[in-house]
Amino acid sequence: MTEINNKNIAILGSTGSIGRQTLDIIAEYPERFRAHTLVARTSAKLLIEQAQRFKPRRVIIADEQYYREVNDALSGLGIEVLTGEAAISAAVVDADVDIVVTAMVGYSGLAPTIAAIGADKIIALANKETLVVAGELITQLLKSSKSVIYPVDSEHGAFFQCLVGERREDVSKLILTASGGPFRTFTREQLEHVTADDALHHPNWSMGAKITIDSATMMNKGFEMIEAKWLFGVSHENIEIVVHPQSIVHSMVEYCDGSVKAQLGLPDMHLPIRYALGLPERLPSREQRMSVSDYALLTFERPDFEKFPLLTAAYDAARRGGNVPCVMNAANEIAVAAFLRRQIAFNDIARIVIDTMEHAPFVSVPTYDDYVASNAAARCYAQEKLVTK
Ligand code: MG
Repeated sequence: MTEINNKNIAILGSTGSIGRQTLDIIAEYPERFRAHTLVARTSAKLLIEQAQRFKPRRVIIADEQYYREVNDALSGLGIEVLTGEAAISAAVVDADVDIVVTAMVGYSGLAPTIAAIGADKIIALANKETLVVAGELITQLLKSSKSVIYPVDSEHGAFFQCLVGERREDVSKLILTASGGPFRTFTREQLEHVTADDALHHPNWSMGAKITIDSATMMNKGFEMIEAKWLFGVSHENIEIVVHPQSIVHSMVEYCDGSVKAQLGLPDMHLPIRYALGLPERLPSREQRMSVSDYALLTFERPDFEKFPLLTAAYDAARRGGNVPCVMNAANEIAVAAFLRRQIAFNDIARIVIDTMEHAPFVSVPTYDDYVASNAAARCYAQEKLVTK
């Protein structure tokens, strides 16, 4: 692997929100980074545009029905065009790839992340579902690999920065901040009637549809709690979620002497992406700075676990462990997709997820195959619940 300059980057999910912002960073530092591999699922047109601009060595359009369109558009440019799920895991182990940015949505990030760990890659992890589904397995695999995971999530980037130079045994608590989403001030009754369009208007962050809905239900914060547990080896009992509507304090770490360190910044994902790609350096940026005096009021409050039952579900999943977080994630993917199709109501998302968690057979120490089976079975169960509603 090259040390600092000209790092070759594979972006899994280059057409999504994090993928596009990663390409912004690559364009900002052309002497340091090169887009080596771009992977998209179905967004053929944008993938073609990105490939024409960034001239990667390889592009993968996972959905085979778009292969011909992408291949024809890029012919003569010297870019290898591949298709299919298997091509993604094969591409991340390419010896020329230095950093793998995992920015795919949901469960689909798991197999390529495992492949990247097997090939000792630096992983810039934006796909939090990977650690939610199989945190225990990923942690085990990392122990026998030279691979490292740098979090791209803003909260986990904040934890990472707060932990630099500290001893892990001195950490007493992680304080995970949450914007509270668009429905922070709504009653549970009001939540019965909110629509997908209401939920897609996040007050502070511009993100993809799935994570925006997860943010509205606060499932996203539950996922981030589990993600933090695995990334930093801190028990869920020592991870506190606080609602901080301004999204300026990206998270905090409390130490055994009572001291609390926080990382602040504007709510802009370029910042954590730039930090993760630049490590161990900080890359200078010309982007807008935060003026502290513009924020006279930074507020913090306890989240409402009654109104957002998926927060309770996430702590329950973390406590029970095994395949429970995997089941929770699978049911959530099905329920969120149905909500986005206007098939179910907002509060049905939590009902379906919790119902699926209660009915799934428990596996205490899942193998990779157990995760695959639990994921498939939970999807099936949740899918049936959509129909019987
Ligand atoms: Mg986040």
